[in-house]
Amino acid sequence: MIVVMKAGASKAELDSVIKEIENKGYRAHLMEGVERNVIGCLGDERGKAALQTLETLDGVEKVMPILSPYKLAAKQLQTEPSQVKVGENCVFGGKNIPMIAGPCSVESEKQIVETAIAVKKAGANALRGGAFKPRSSTYSFQGMGEEGLKYLAKAREETGLPIVTEVMDQHMVGLVAEYADLIQIGARNMQNFALLKALGTAGKPILLKRGMSATAEELLMSSEYILAAGNPDVILCERGIRTFETATRNTLDLNIVPVLKSRTHLPVVVDPSHGTGVWNYVGPMTKAGIAAGADGIILEVHPNPAEAESDGAQSLKPKVFEELMSELAPIAQAMGRTVGA
Ligand code: PEP
Ligand code: MN
Repeated sequence: MIVVMKAGASKAELDSVIKEIENKGYRAHLMEGVERNVIGCLGDERGKAALQTLETLDGVEKVMPILSPYKLAAKQLQTEPSQVKVGENCVFGGKNIPMIAGPCSVESEKQIVETAIAVKKAGANALRGGAFKPRSSTYSFQGMGEEGLKYLAKAREETGLPIVTEVMDQHMVGLVAEYADLIQIGARNMQNFALLKALGTAGKPILLKRGMSATAEELLMSSEYILAAGNPDVILCERGIRTFETATRNTLDLNIVPVLKSRTHLPVVVDPSHGTGVWNYVGPMTKAGIAAGADGIILEVHPNPAEAESDGAQSLKPKVFEELMSELAPIAQAMGRTVGA
């Protein structure tokens, strides 16, 4: 349920409504508006009839149900788009469309620093690189772990780029949060609810990737776990879904961009690398993602894709990334936006 306060309601009236919500066993989530305040009541939906009586309190205009199963992510509670700040000056959800680029995996200090310098020069806003890798095969390269995080920190030191890296396990959130500016939750962990809950106190923004067979609603419900656990800084990511098509690794579902934008205030990022699996298709789908309304792009760049430990086939060479960057501005401009640093 949400409680809409009257335009001129006093602070004392607001406080007593919040107190009453808590007395009824609900958590009150205050959304301060320019004209009026709205309070979300978070808790068991079955008792919501009891909340209807709040309408009799001073300062309350009306009490109404939030129809979607995700309350904090829904547009009903917050109509303005959320802006999520990553590092010092990279913002998702504003007019600019930040570009996150870097290798699938951190493989050595030289590889990640070299890539960071190249993508920064081409206009990237942030550096990606996995230190903990979710691999389908247990025999595949599993990532460098903490050593990889240290190399990412070195690359940030060298370039000033904020870093985006994945955490796979709830017990590792603290460690990854020490290094990351944006913590990635991979597709395979979108419904790892223990992990999602642990992100509430991570103190860093989260990039939540869509599971490969997850619906828009399931993605939003997963984002709600993080928001309800106390972390308001969530960015959603479309990274391709499993379909019957075999010409590409996944099918980049750009439909979900307007779907999400119509349902949530959270920024939406598109990942054309995992969405296609083929480096040659990454450029066109980056452009299509921007045209569809993406608030950011994340893609894979490797100094030598043929030698990459993971996802070489979908990784751009730095030169190709640089060329692509030079082609994106007119598309962003047509959307009333800017792109890259
Ligand atoms: C990745 O970003 O390298 C990755 C493993 O992505 P996803 O979880 O979308 O497969
Ligand atoms: Mn990858």
